[in-house]
Amino acid sequence: MANTDVPDLDTFLEGLRKRNPGQEEFAQAVGEVAEDILPFIADNENYQEAEILRRLAEPDRVVSFRVCWEDDDGNIHVERGWRVQNNNAIGPYKGGLRFSESVTESVLKFLAFEQTFKNSLTGLPMGGGKGGSNFNPKGKSDREVMRFCQSFMTELYRHIGPSVDVPAGDIGVGSREIGYLFGQYKRITGRWEGVLTGKALEYGGSRLRTEATGYGVVYFLREMLKNADEELDGKTAVVSGSGNVALYAAQKLIDCGAKVLTLSDSDGFVHDPDGIDAEKLDWVMKLKLERRGRISEYADEFDGAEYHEGNAPWHVDCDIALPCATQNELDDDAAKALLDNDVMAVVEGANMPSTRDAAKRFRKSDILFGPAKAANAGGVAVSGLEMTQNSQRMSWECDKLDDMLTQLMAEIHEKCRSDGESDDGAVDYVRGANIAGFRKVADAMLDFGVM
Ligand code: GLU
Repeated sequence: MANTDVPDLDTFLEGLRKRNPGQEEFAQAVGEVAEDILPFIADNENYQEAEILRRLAEPDRVVSFRVCWEDDDGNIHVERGWRVQNNNAIGPYKGGLRFSESVTESVLKFLAFEQTFKNSLTGLPMGGGKGGSNFNPKGKSDREVMRFCQSFMTELYRHIGPSVDVPAGDIGVGSREIGYLFGQYKRITGRWEGVLTGKALEYGGSRLRTEATGYGVVYFLREMLKNADEELDGKTAVVSGSGNVALYAAQKLIDCGAKVLTLSDSDGFVHDPDGIDAEKLDWVMKLKLERRGRISEYADEFDGAEYHEGNAPWHVDCDIALPCATQNELDDDAAKALLDNDVMAVVEGANMPSTRDAAKRFRKSDILFGPAKAANAGGVAVSGLEMTQNSQRMSWECDKLDDMLTQLMAEIHEKCRSDGESDDGAVDYVRGANIAGFRKVADAMLDFGVM
């Protein structure tokens, strides 16, 4: 008789930790999902019998490789590269590449696991993967970044392909890096194909891809507010980060009539009590995306703004908080501070920005809490649309893509709502996202049998 006993969370996580020693981020991400999925599979025997959760938490494969590159002074550097292919039940592996000194196998395994659920929620045929390197492009010359990217792709190319695995950008990988990576893939294989997304428009990129994650976060927030009979106009918002996600989320917040009070980078945050308006944000876009400057310069440029070195913005009084920087940037003290200040909604733009304790505190409270795997899925959703445009040899207009993104985010919201709503009408978006994301992948895996 097959085992249909659902393990309790502690036993499940103990086994996971034993198999993945020292991989705390991975255990955190799986733990957050398991907390909702274990009770769900207790009512759905098939999933337990087929050990679906256990299989999902074991990546299909983890490829790790050496990446050597030469700096401008002729010194040789040795870094490590990875591609974690978590699950391809519903489509080719899909997920970004992250270049940052904080990258470890554990971080990439957590991201690839999360991506599997996120991509499933988009409704598009994409499996979950993630990759990257501990190489940090900050402070490197363009030529150094080019040599690194070429070396990285010289190994990666054999593991990817438009129907196999389609990487994109993430932290530290923007259009410059995607250009070098794509060029090297094309040079090695001799093929132009949609093997990466986030490409520039000239060579097959999609309109709106750059803005999509940030815009999508705000579209999701808007749906949550609408469902609670609230609206965005006139609300104050605290945003962390100043990369693509944060800046385009801020832009859409401003468009929708909200007042954006903060932005940050890894050194500290700026607080502008008058609000960061469209013009000031334009200046920040040039500072961060073109000049690669630091956010502290904002306070020198605009009167009334303060710079807070070494801190995160969570103590600033606000209606809405959007953590859009990186994992575990918002801890339990920050969560307490936000709730003490009567925050109405916290929506995750970065991947797993709330620590386990912070997320638990938000879920226990009566605020609207939008988890990353649903709220930031707009980026990968438009990546999916980039793949479609590439296979059709077509390029769609911005308005069409924005309508599709708006629609996709509303559908993701609806999936989370219907699986996360309790009898009193309150919505646990975390549970909804976990269950809805899981179901589609799990059902496909059941169809394939044991593998
Ligand atoms: N890195 C982004 C994410 O976390 C996008 C991935 C993609 O477009 O493939 O979802």
